Amino acid sequence: MARKHATDVALDAHLAQLLERIGEVARALRWQQATDAGLSPLQIRILGFVAEHAGEAVGVARLADEFQVSRPTVSDSVALLVERSLLLRKPDPHDGRSHALRLSAEGRRVLPTGGPFTESLATLPLHERESLLLGLMRLLEALLSRGDVQVQRMCWTCAHYNGDRRGRHRCLLLRKDLAVAELRTDCPEHEAT
Ligand code: SF4
Repeated sequence: MARKHATDVALDAHLAQLLERIGEVARALRWQQATDAGLSPLQIRILGFVAEHAGEAVGVARLADEFQVSRPTVSDSVALLVERSLLLRKPDPHDGRSHALRLSAEGRRVLPTGGPFTESLATLPLHERESLLLGLMRLLEALLSRGDVQVQRMCWTCAHYNGDRRGRHRCLLLRKDLAVAELRTDCPEHEAT
């Protein structure tokens, strides 16, 4: 038993090391993309988030929660993106006192598409990519329950999820079975359990 425990510890340490290395690669790529566009990494993330949430009321408060940085920091970054006409500030249709951000055509142009991660993942067979996704979702959920991640709108933590988290997934709200690729980690309909 003691030997198995040591193997488990070594496996966990190796996995943690790999995840850190992949995180470093992701950060380095974002720096490169940001530098190429004359922006900061945070500004590139903001553009990406606004693009992925078109039709939703995304403002400074939501971005600050999402990226776990202060509102003044986000506000400064957003102001520069608006000044450069990469983001547009529109009145929020749900709240007359607030503004929602929209991506401009120019903002869409500077936003990186694809990239080394997407291309590298495409070399893995489907079942490996699905196992990876399920494993990472479980890891994210564990980090969430420890309080290490603040915002997560994933199926695992949603009141509408019904399934076994392995091979059977159903969204009660959408009234449909979900393939692994359809599981969400940032769902606008998410309702916390
Ligand atoms: S509402 Fe969204 S997060 Fe919740 S189970 Fe359905 S797809 Fe998943």
